[in-house]
Amino acid sequence: MAIREILEAPDPRLKIVSSPVEKFDEGLKTLVDDMFETMYDAYGIGLAAIQVGEPIRLLVIDLQEEDPDAEPEECEHDGTKHTHQPVKKDPRVFVNPEILDPSTDKGIYQEGCLSVPDVYADIERPSRCRVRWQDLDGKQHEEDMSGMLAICIQHEMDHLNGILFIDHLSRLKRGMALKKLQKARQAA
Ligand code: ZN
Repeated sequence: MAIREILEAPDPRLKIVSSPVEKFDEGLKTLVDDMFETMYDAYGIGLAAIQVGEPIRLLVIDLQEEDPDAEPEECEHDGTKHTHQPVKKDPRVFVNPEILDPSTDKGIYQEGCLSVPDVYADIERPSRCRVRWQDLDGKQHEEDMSGMLAICIQHEMDHLNGILFIDHLSRLKRGMALKKLQKARQAA
């Protein structure tokens, strides 16, 4: 496994419409392993293949939600002890995903993106959707999604079509977001 470089806006490759996956081989599995390692390393919850420069219809998601059944973990920062709830790993792979029947009711959530660091914006999307996809063996699945999973999969699906979350903003707001990104980069 290897951590790959994450492309950042305005890299033109992020605008590519990715092609369907046709070969379900070892190379695909290795890429998925790399994508999970890259995503966890960057504290992300979703990553599309194009974000690591591979223009194929593949994405990985792990919402890493807190596990309510787990024993709280104790840790220490700067001399103060506190407990926190461990997260449950739930790595999910979506090959050639398609969104069917997005709901007419919408929700707003403050989104961010590993390819647009330090920028967050309220984005409105359908609250629920049905998703069809293939797994790493090419087997087809379908599932109704809602909540964070619905938001995340729609955000990642956009990447496969060359769309960033800031593309949903007005021209003015997108300009402000990109300026903020440039400033953060200069300061780094
Ligand atoms: Zn993203």
